[in-house]
Amino acid sequence: MHIKSAEFVVSNSDVTKCPKDRLPEYAFIGRSNVGKSSLINMLTSRKSLAKTSGRPGKTQLINHFLINDNWFLVDLPGYGYARVSKSTKKVFQKFITQYFEHREQLVTAFVLVDIRHKPQPIDQEFMQYLGESGIPFSIIFTKADKLRPKAIENHVEAYKNILLETWEEMPNYFITSSSKDIGKDDVLNYIDGLNNS
Ligand code: GDP
Repeated sequence: MHIKSAEFVVSNSDVTKCPKDRLPEYAFIGRSNVGKSSLINMLTSRKSLAKTSGRPGKTQLINHFLINDNWFLVDLPGYGYARVSKSTKKVFQKFITQYFEHREQLVTAFVLVDIRHKPQPIDQEFMQYLGESGIPFSIIFTKADKLRPKAIENHVEAYKNILLETWEEMPNYFITSSSKDIGKDDVLNYIDGLNNS
């Protein structure tokens, strides 16, 4: 898919205020600092469409971007950042779950995980939550440039083994690096396929 246009539309913490258009949408979510903003900028070939933040936990809003005038890319807040106070954490968790439970336009979610790390309980819990809520999702491994190809294979294998303890099959996954422009076409073509199915 060629990205001809990518525009910021709206940010809010209330799912009822998200765009009313019935366009298909795709949500990106993961722990703070996982590389979500960088990935969104890579996918859209824009330097700073999503703000890469030196201060994790800063962007606690649902951000809608309109892509090619026919689908929404949704940047959701990072979860599980320890320095966010308990009450703030609760608020964003509630609006995240409200987003997933009420947003009928959502086609699939992309859960981002840093390829270098083992699955963290919060990532597993979040995937469990999506599964139990019947929300389709794929995993996007980020920062693949940090590992050699063999190590990438080993880390994905280890991830699979852990997930297969609770899942019948490994969810669909992508290996990406925003620094090295890896995986962009795989993700965009996957979205394109879903938009045209
Ligand atoms: P976010 O908090 O999930 O939106 O993460 P950011 O996109 O702001 O990235 C967090 C940090 O990881 C920044 O220092 C980025 O430069 C770095 N980063 C993001 N993507 C990559 C990547 O693909 N490779 C490497 N090596 N670093 C990355």
